[in-house]
Amino acid sequence: MNFTEFKEQYFDVDMTNERLRKRIQYVSVYGILFIVSIAMTVINILTDKGMLTWMVAAFAVMCAVNWCLVKFLDVKGMKVSIGLFTIEILLLFMYFLISGNPEGYSAIWVLLLPSCGMLLFGRKTTVRLSMLVFVILIILLWTPFGDSILQYDYSDSFKDRFPITFFSIFILSFVWETIRLHTHWELEKLKKDYQQLSLHDALTGVYNRLGLFEHEKESKVGESQAVLMMDLDYFKSVNDKYGHDVGDKVLMCVSKEMERVLDNPVCRWGGEEFVSWYPEGLKDKDISEKFRKSVEDLKIEIDDNKTISVTVSIGEVTTNEKISLEDLINRADVCLYKAKEGGRNRVVKEKD
Ligand code: GH3
Ligand code: MG
Ligand code: MG
Repeated sequence: MNFTEFKEQYFDVDMTNERLRKRIQYVSVYGILFIVSIAMTVINILTDKGMLTWMVAAFAVMCAVNWCLVKFLDVKGMKVSIGLFTIEILLLFMYFLISGNPEGYSAIWVLLLPSCGMLLFGRKTTVRLSMLVFVILIILLWTPFGDSILQYDYSDSFKDRFPITFFSIFILSFVWETIRLHTHWELEKLKKDYQQLSLHDALTGVYNRLGLFEHEKESKVGESQAVLMMDLDYFKSVNDKYGHDVGDKVLMCVSKEMERVLDNPVCRWGGEEFVSWYPEGLKDKDISEKFRKSVEDLKIEIDDNKTISVTVSIGEVTTNEKISLEDLINRADVCLYKAKEGGRNRVVKEKD
């Protein structure tokens, strides 16, 4: 299992959002770096900084190329840009450190790597990149070999302290990024939990009205569609006779049975009334009757040795018309009313 799958499974993170967020980060950081390096190029031209001017100008061009890659090629562009940018940034930093141009100042830009890296590449790549730069810093500033290739005479204090400063900034950036990531995943998880709560009925776990209409948005309506509207018979007397808790248990058992027999999303429309919407029509034309019968046969245990039974009335509508789900439900409600009037524990279809 790779890290992306791990995040999806254990933190329930929506990876589409993750990718979009990453893309926005890349476009922003490349954009900002482009503007900064263009500004630095202008300053370098005005102050006549020779080679440094062209290195920074080349970096600006590469930032623009990376920006275009991410903007226009999406995921593929992001991957290519990471590889390109890693090489560019390493080359630029090496140049900054070795040349020290101007007056040792350029080396300071290297300190931006840990924080910008976390923003762009995430932790894993930035840890590797920062460690590589740290080793380069040690070789250049702390060894005789490094001394022999440095073109700028850094002060001893600078040489001693610079790698330590870089390492401290790296640790801080790592801690901040870890906290940020965990907070982000927690928020994503909370978002999912609240979405689940807002779309489902707390007692039975089936959709509530909002859930049904969200489900409608995601569904493709076929040639014909159908709605079953189901209402428990004399449910008030169950509450009156056995108490509200038993009534709740009956609702839970019947909704489970509904999900099992109908094998289709179910919505608690209100109280003891349920709706099941078939956007592509009914495959089994006898499904309402099957469900009515299964509820009739259901033995709901209310005490150790005591069971009770309930019945359900059902209104069913199938139509080829392009009408809204609400209108379809209203028509099913009319059928349900007829089923109640007809004596309950029965199915009334619109054509009947
Ligand atoms: P009918 O056959 O005409 O549908 O009669 P009924 O008694 O089922 O219908 P009525 O509308 O008179 O009563 C519905 C009852 O459902 C009243 C209400 O207390 C009960 N009810 C609604 N929601 C819940 C719930 O969440 N839990 C419990 N235990 N009862 C509920
Ligand atoms: Mg009822
Ligand atoms: Mg009712």
